[in-house]
Formats: sequence, structure tokens, C-alpha cells
Amino acid sequence: KDDRKKDDGANYDIGLQEVGDGTGIVTRFPPEPSGYLHIGHAKAALLNDYFAHEKYKGTLLLRFDDTNPLKEKQEFQDAIVEDLALMGVKADRLTYTSDYFQELYEYCVRMLKEGNAYADDTLQEKMRDERMNGVPSERRDSPAEDNLARFEEMKSATTEGLRWCIRAKISVDDPNKAMRDPVIYRCSPEVHHRTGDKWKIYPTYDFCCPIVDSIENVTHALRTTEYNDRDAQYQWMLKALKLRPVYNWGFARLNFVRTVLSKRKLTKIVDSKFVWGWDDPRMPTVRGVRRRGVTIPALREFILKQGPSKNIVNLDWYSFWATNKKHIDPISARYTAIDEAAKVPVTVIGAREGIHTEKKEKHAKYTDLGKKKVVFSSSIILEQADAASFAQDEEITLMNWGNAIVRKISHSINPLASPHGLKTVTGLELELHLQGDVKKTSKKVTWLSTDQNLIPVELVEFDHLITKDKLEPEDTLEDFLNPKTELRTKTLADCNVAELKEDDIIQFDRKGYFRIDKAFAHGEPAVAFQIPTGKSK
Ligand code: ATP
Ligand code: MG
Ligand code: MG
Repeated sequence: KDDRKKDDGANYDIGLQEVGDGTGIVTRFPPEPSGYLHIGHAKAALLNDYFAHEKYKGTLLLRFDDTNPLKEKQEFQDAIVEDLALMGVKADRLTYTSDYFQELYEYCVRMLKEGNAYADDTLQEKMRDERMNGVPSERRDSPAEDNLARFEEMKSATTEGLRWCIRAKISVDDPNKAMRDPVIYRCSPEVHHRTGDKWKIYPTYDFCCPIVDSIENVTHALRTTEYNDRDAQYQWMLKALKLRPVYNWGFARLNFVRTVLSKRKLTKIVDSKFVWGWDDPRMPTVRGVRRRGVTIPALREFILKQGPSKNIVNLDWYSFWATNKKHIDPISARYTAIDEAAKVPVTVIGAREGIHTEKKEKHAKYTDLGKKKVVFSSSIILEQADAASFAQDEEITLMNWGNAIVRKISHSINPLASPHGLKTVTGLELELHLQGDVKKTSKKVTWLSTDQNLIPVELVEFDHLITKDKLEPEDTLEDFLNPKTELRTKTLADCNVAELKEDDIIQFDRKGYFRIDKAFAHGEPAVAFQIPTGKSK
């Protein structure tokens, strides 16, 4: 794992602040357990890990920001822990915002007592307008006793309590709207997945984040730059409560073309069964991209290469998959698969009598991948597209075998019935010409002897879920969901493919890279997902 980390090649500075020898640096990754980690979260986790553990010898906290019982589940929490481990991110300490509910409650009481907060029952719509227009709430100057009494009503979730919220008393008309008396506590009777029905009031992110960061000795709170406007209220909370200072540090959120990275939208896509689940290979989750065939070292390299820049760009997937290709090429053994619906039977003249088997390298360059069996006989199949391109007496190359001359081409009688039109080939005779120079032929084709156990493999190619490069906030997700994102092709593969296991990454000659999603078993076809390489989509 440590070697892998060194390969990231990252070297960034946390900037501005004295960091001493770095051992005192504390960062935190604070996911809300309301969904699976997506690659944007992976960026946040890897950057925090980078500063805590690689750049400095500090501490990384994993904190579940579990303050909204409506959206949170144990299932999500467990998945986040697993995915971080998978990415090689090892937190030194696991904490929960919900562990601080008592302290947070007490801090809120203190704010109410000290006149730094007030209870408000202004209706949501009106509150929004007042904040927009810099108008004070009618409740802004209520006496502390009233505010405290209302907070107690909220704590018991009485009918009265449910009408109220607590707001920090910062400013009515600050040009920075984040400073206009943000809500810091809400009443909610929902059952919490960790604290059960003990609490009926929940702190907002704006309130608990600075407090818990400070209590937990976080030195650098890394946040995406959309939070820049909220840095001022973060600092205000710390000052109002006389808490230890924390330094805010912004980085650009990760965005990808034709991709949504919002848990709310991803939840919609999963719940509507538009995909198979959170680990669907079309999902931009850590599990999804892994299932599509990205390796963890490639994911780390790609994300850390983006670095802590503050420029928000809409990344394309080409460079993501191009980075992955560098990682998978040296580990991908090569096999052969032939499109089953378009296979052409071929007789090879001059082949050795009977069936003959040789051991060949699984990859000509990376011989550490071992050897595979190649079966030779006079009965082989190759693909229609190749067969249809051959001319009478043309010399071609059978890959891993040698040259052969096209001696006879049979065409179908009813060309209109075939999708390949006039040139549909129903059979070929090839005469081996092994002394021929393989460097001189222009066609090098894949083939398979039918005298072996050909393994059925279903190849699956995926497309983007979203049809628009960049969804705007006013766009409706459903209007931009791609109706066809899955293309399946039945193929027959060489006998070695029977031994492949789930998760193996391989190459089918001339077809590309694939990740085995389901191994061949009990006569059921193997399923292989095409891994993009950056060239095509
Ligand atoms: P989402 O919009 O997906 O719901 P979130 O911020 O609400 O994201 P959290 O679980 O609170 O979800 O996020 C955990 C951390 O991941 C936060 O520090 C957040 O800033 C960061 N994060 C979320 N999305 C991205 C992104 N696209 N790029 C970089 N960091 C992100
Ligand atoms: Mg959040
Ligand atoms: Mg968000």
C-alpha cells in the first residue's frame, strides 16, 4: 500500500499557514451517511488523506456528519467505511457528529443566553424573502428567556416546538448572504439511526461543523469552494463561542461531463431502478467506476493529479480512462473472442493432422502474466467483418499462427436477408503459408479453433447515463436520462477464458479491455464489461 502511495506523484502545499513539523496537522473527511461515496467524495477523502499522511505526518479523522435522520442509514455508513478502506484511505479516528449532540445543545443554549442566537417561527417562504431583502425577523430581539423556553419546546418536539427553529444572530443585511442569521437548529421528530428518539432537535451543518472541528482539534478544514461564502460564518461561530481557531481551506469540487455528482440525484437514479444499484458500472460511485474496470491506483493517481486547485472544470472521461489504461495494460492478459452471431466457419488447408496445442504468452510484452493454451486444427471460425474484407488469393495473417492465402470464398444465396448485405460470407478456405512474412500483410485477424471448449462470453458496453454535458440547476434530471446505455454482444472465447475469475481485467485481441463481472460457471456465459480507454467515448 505504501509503494502505491508514493506512485501518486503528488506534491502540494496546504498553503498560507505555519505547519511546523507537520505532526500537529489534523484534517477530516466528513461524509453524511446518506449515500455511497462518489468520485467527488473520493477527491475530498484523498486530499485530506494526502495532507494528513503524505505531505505531513499528522492525523486524519473520519467523521460521520449524521445530523439529518431523514436521509441517513447504517447501510450507507458501512459502505463508506468499506470504500475508504478500498481506496487505501486509513483514518486515524472514526467519530460521529451525533456523539456531540449534548455539547452542541449546550453551545446553542449558551448562544441563546449570550444573545448570539434567537428562536424564530417565521414561515420558511417569508424567512427566505426577509433574508434576501435584508429585513430583520420579528423575533430577532426576543428576550433570552423566551428564546430558551422555545428551544426547550423544540427539544421535546411539542406541537409548539415543531413550529420553531434557532438562528444565529449575526447580521440582517451583510452583503454576504451566508451571514444573514443562518439557521443553526431545527426540530425534527424523526428517529435517528444512532441516537434513536433521544433527540428531537438537530444542529445544522453551519453550526455543528465549526464546533465539532474545533473540539476535535482539526487544524485545517478542507471544503469545496462553494463554501467560500460560508467561511465567514464558520469563523463567526468559533469566535462567538470562544473556541480554538480552525483554518478553512478551499479546493475545487470535482465535476465530470455527462455525469451527476449529487447524492440527491444519484439516489433518485437508484431508487427509480434506472440502474441496478449504487454499484452499477454506469454510476459515478467509487463502486461503480471500479466495477466498470478502473483500478484503485489509477483512481488515486487521476484524482490526486487534479490536486487542490480552486479552478472548477467539467472534466471529461477521456483522461480518466486514459490514466486507467496505463495501469491496466501491463496486467491485462490477452485472449480471443469472436462475435457469435457473425462467426464464419473456415477450413484451414495445410494444418497439421488432428488437433495440436501450444503454450503461448498471455501477453507478448508482459511475460510475467504467464502462458495460455492455443489450439490449432483445420476447423476454425473468424469474424464476418474480417472474412467479408478478404479478396480471392489475398495473403492474410492469422494472429499467433502465421500467414494464409484465401483460396475459396462462399457467399450466402440470399444476401438481403443478412445484416452484412451483399458481402456476407458463409464459409472460407484458407491455405496456410507459414513461410510468409507477417510484417507484409495488412490484415491480421483473430480466429479460434472449434476443436476446443469455446466459452460463451457476453460483452457489455455502456454509455453515459446523462445526455447533456452539464446539467444546469433548472434542468429536470428525468429529461436528460439516456434511455439506452447498455449494449450486449454474445461471443465465443478461447478455452482459457473458463479460468477467469470475477474482477479479472483482461484484453480481448482487437476488441479492447474488459473486466470480468461474472465468471463462466455451470454452462452460464461469462459476463465481461468493456473498459473505456479514452479513445472512443
Ligand atoms: P453531495 O452533493 O454528493 O450530496 P455532499 O457534500 O452533500 O455531496 P457529503 O457526504 O457531505 O456530501 O460530502 C462529504 C465531503 O465530500 C464534503 O467535504 C464535501 O465537500 C465533499 N464533496 C462532495 N461532493 C464533492 C465533489 N463533487 N468534489 C469534491 N468534493 C466533494
Ligand atoms: Mg454535505
Ligand atoms: Mg452537496
